[in-house]
Amino acid sequence: MIDKRYNITKKQLIGLQEGERFCPKCDGKGRVPRDKKKGLRFTVLLQCDKCLGDGKIDWIEEATGKKQKGVGHGAYTTT
Ligand SMILES: [Zn+2]
Repeated sequence: MIDKRYNITKKQLIGLQEGERFCPKCDGKGRVPRDKKKGLRFTVLLQCDKCLGDGKIDWIEEATGKKQKGVGHGAYTTT
């Protein structure tokens, strides 16, 4: 079974690798709607602070919290 989610931050479908799961807060979208303020006619989407917009977390991140990676010019480094 191929389970994919559309990630708003990455603007693409993301899939899971072993040990990963979709973020329980944003359900893989990477963004969560901010609480609506009075008078605001549209929903503001904020970067999910659980997965930092990644849309998925692994079990280590689940336990310790997501770490910002790829610090620099927005590029991700593969390890
Ligand atoms: Zn999230």
